[in-house]
Amino acid sequence: MVLIKLDSQSEVNGTNGSPVLSKSAVLHRDLSEDFLLLSSSEGNHLILEDGRRVFDASGGAAVSCIGYRNKRVADATYKQILDAPYCSTVFYTTKVQEELCRFLVDSTGGHMARAYIVNSGSEAMEAAIKLARQYFVELSPSQPQRTRFISRRQSYHGITLGALAMGGHKYRRAKFEPLLMKNVSQVSPCNEFRFKAPGETNEEYVARLAKELDDEFQRVGPATVCAFVAEPIVGAAQGCVPSVAGYFKAMKAVCDKYGALLILDEVMCGMGRSGTLHAWQQEGVVPDIQTIGKALGGGYQPIAGLLANHRVIDGIARGSSVFVHGHTYQGHPACCAAALEVQRIIQEEDLVAHVANMGQLLSQGLKNRIGGHPNVANIRGRGLFWGVEFVSDKTASTPFPEAVHVAMCISKLGLDSKYGINVYPGAGSADGLLGDHIIISPAFNVRKEEVEWIVETVGRLVDDYFATLE
Ligand code: PLP
Repeated sequence: MVLIKLDSQSEVNGTNGSPVLSKSAVLHRDLSEDFLLLSSSEGNHLILEDGRRVFDASGGAAVSCIGYRNKRVADATYKQILDAPYCSTVFYTTKVQEELCRFLVDSTGGHMARAYIVNSGSEAMEAAIKLARQYFVELSPSQPQRTRFISRRQSYHGITLGALAMGGHKYRRAKFEPLLMKNVSQVSPCNEFRFKAPGETNEEYVARLAKELDDEFQRVGPATVCAFVAEPIVGAAQGCVPSVAGYFKAMKAVCDKYGALLILDEVMCGMGRSGTLHAWQQEGVVPDIQTIGKALGGGYQPIAGLLANHRVIDGIARGSSVFVHGHTYQGHPACCAAALEVQRIIQEEDLVAHVANMGQLLSQGLKNRIGGHPNVANIRGRGLFWGVEFVSDKTASTPFPEAVHVAMCISKLGLDSKYGINVYPGAGSADGLLGDHIIISPAFNVRKEEVEWIVETVGRLVDDYFATLE
């Protein structure tokens, strides 16, 4: 028997104050908690062992994009497992890998030259870091002094050491700081709600951030910078924060001025989630390298990847022509088969356009329903990728103390059968500058009635949770 304790804190401490460990053999994220046992999932619902049905309004961590139990994807994956379950990529490739990468490259309108398939967003970011570095080493003449990366505070690029070093998620970095790459420095993110100065226009804000980036290049030595790394829409670290118009153009201009690469991390916001297949398509820039993940395979298999443009690929091709990187399971056939089928379904059902339409309904609905709530500070996002930020004092935009765990409590409350909704919690990078947030990012095929239900249910959840704090 496995159950969830909504009030987990009551179970955490034993009578002598020592932690009571869950009986599970799994090294769960929190050793003191019992975890919900998921018995199956169908459509956009999670079905728990205790019989509860939970509407997955965040697609897990913005992963699910065509819903669950899709027979076409299951059949395509099963067939591939029978045909060729594994492929050593030293000598071989598979039709599904070739087809998937062709689809990805073509989807960029010729801007990208090659795609590389791995199994997680963190691996994709590690590969992006190494590819950028190798590009400069192999250039003729070589630029081996380009060892530095500039990224942004309040960002998240993955959990492995290289990717974690790029990110600015304080909580996730804190215990590992001494192990992280030292050649990464960080500049401000672009967050209109939190960091744009009073009275500042968008143009002035962008100019200020571009100057800050330019100054950082100058500070570390412009010729030592390999790449600037950023998420087009900041996911886990801020809660779906897009940049103001013109921001990425200005950042790219600084990169171009100093010959550095632009790496855009679209692991969370990409592959249709933002209302266009690639989030950069709304920014008027093309990155040199982009990473993709979650909605690539929609959760059917662990798959992520990167796309690199002609500049990078030609540079490597003219050098050794060998990308000195590789994983046992890269380009995994079953993962490629699942992702290819997911992407075919998205195309056939015109789901990216549907994302844009449903996104408008969702954002307007949320703004109408909870925009005026005294603890809701800001609702922002794009497509079907929306964040709601909470504060204790709306006038001063004061975040709740970290110890209150506002986002986590709201998300847990949502699992109560009174609501039956899954929303994704985030704790404002735990740096005291941002409020807690929840992410609402349903599957791309969410229906109008479901969007309306999400809006109303999130509304009740927010009303009820904050009523308990009064
Ligand atoms: N980059 C971004 C923007 C992410 O949101 C994430 C995960 O949430 C990652 C990278 C890391 O991906 P993964 O968890 O698949 O390793």
